[in-house]
Amino acid sequence: MEIPENESFRDSIGTLTEDGKRAWVYPKKPSGKFYEYRKIVSYVLLLFLIGAPFIKINGNQFLMFNILERRFNIFGFPFWPQDFHLFVISMIIGVIFIALFTVSFGRIFCGWICPQTIFLEMVFRRFEYWIDGDRNKQRKLDNQAWNAEKIRKRLLKWSIFLIISFIIANVFLAYLIGSDKLLQYVTEGPLEHTGTLFPLIIFTAVFYFVFAWFREQVCIIACPYGRLQGVLLDDKSIIVAYDHKRGEGENGRKKFRKDEDREALGHGDCIDCLQCVHVCPTGIDIRNGTQLECVNCTACIDECDHIMESINLPKGLIRYASEDEIEKKEKFTVTPRMKGYIAVLIILTGVLMGMMSLRNDVEATVLRLPGQLYEHKEGNIISNVFTYKLINKTTKTIENVSFKLRKYKGEVILVSNSNTFIVPEQGLAEGTLFIEIDKKELKGDKNKLMIEVYSGDELIETTTVNFLGPRSYH
Ligand code: SF4
Ligand code: SF4
Repeated sequence: MEIPENESFRDSIGTLTEDGKRAWVYPKKPSGKFYEYRKIVSYVLLLFLIGAPFIKINGNQFLMFNILERRFNIFGFPFWPQDFHLFVISMIIGVIFIALFTVSFGRIFCGWICPQTIFLEMVFRRFEYWIDGDRNKQRKLDNQAWNAEKIRKRLLKWSIFLIISFIIANVFLAYLIGSDKLLQYVTEGPLEHTGTLFPLIIFTAVFYFVFAWFREQVCIIACPYGRLQGVLLDDKSIIVAYDHKRGEGENGRKKFRKDEDREALGHGDCIDCLQCVHVCPTGIDIRNGTQLECVNCTACIDECDHIMESINLPKGLIRYASEDEIEKKEKFTVTPRMKGYIAVLIILTGVLMGMMSLRNDVEATVLRLPGQLYEHKEGNIISNVFTYKLINKTTKTIENVSFKLRKYKGEVILVSNSNTFIVPEQGLAEGTLFIEIDKKELKGDKNKLMIEVYSGDELIETTTVNFLGPRSYH
């Protein structure tokens, strides 16, 4: 028999009223096996999110996204503007990894790992349950007049939300400008650094707005990843799904009545208690099938399992399952599409590792001074002038740096009083140099020279330049 379906839920998102206003969601406090697992995962991730900017590996911040200075550290590995290609490949690997995971396991990232879900469900919402109470109490408080109780609870909740938003904004800033700078600004006093204080206030306001008011709307209308679900998911993807075969039976779902033989009456196991809807933080009914709003948070699985247990039916009416598993009882298999993603992932990871192993800690660029050709000097010497730039990507100062020519007999003369210089940690050294070569050594008007960069006696980098000379030599 065809399942009678009311498709009107597809016409609008679950958090809008018919006249287009925001329908505030008061989700019931979740409880159950998955919620407990999610709590553990979220504690670990919260520790990681807050701690990552303060952890250092070889002096490099573990994670940093300094957009202004275009310096990024990923897992303690520093990416400079010169390593932009490596950074882009890493980002593509990240995106393909998430796509592979989504194709295989739906929005598992949203429900378990996304910072938005973790902060909202595991931090802000839990304070809300503690202060305002569960679903019904929250609704009642919202609708009641402003009396002493409401003012007290609102002030307490909003103050706590503001403090947490401020903490998150500081952590966010540590990712952007580096934890050292943040701590320095804090100790020197924020008024000394109003240029940073201002963004900090804006970030705090944005986080407050997102977690106190905008909430699930981020996942539903703002997050681009959520929008991708339509193209990434297929019937083989494992998602949080309602087993409509079992739940609806021959004659559809029906309220529970004691001592009634539902099987004989042809009704499914769903007793239409609506608990899965009440617990949903995005305000949808999972029984309508996969929906854009579902963040796979598993709250409805736990809730339905409680109900099934209470009426002595097997758990798992809502569970992690693919559409094919529910419809055709097919088990999970690795599809050609997944194999394609895995292949691309392996290739890109190989490329990235190869490129990273070839990457130098020091990068030298020597460029001809614009508009200069060559100079003929006494003793048949040809001189060219260049500018140099040395980037030190390490956290140690490189001392005693000098240049030497490979193959050619000639001299490299720095336009400074010394023959050597230093390149500061995570910094650069720039200057001008002359290269002087005996005319007899040159093989044409354009000569490719290889320049070796030494720190003491250790060769740390090589680079090439074009050395110009006269057209005829003999
Ligand atoms: S919680 Fe389970 S039984 Fe209750 S309405 Fe949802 S699917 Fe049906
Ligand atoms: S439908 Fe279930 S899994 Fe999806 S968001 Fe709602 S409660 Fe979470």
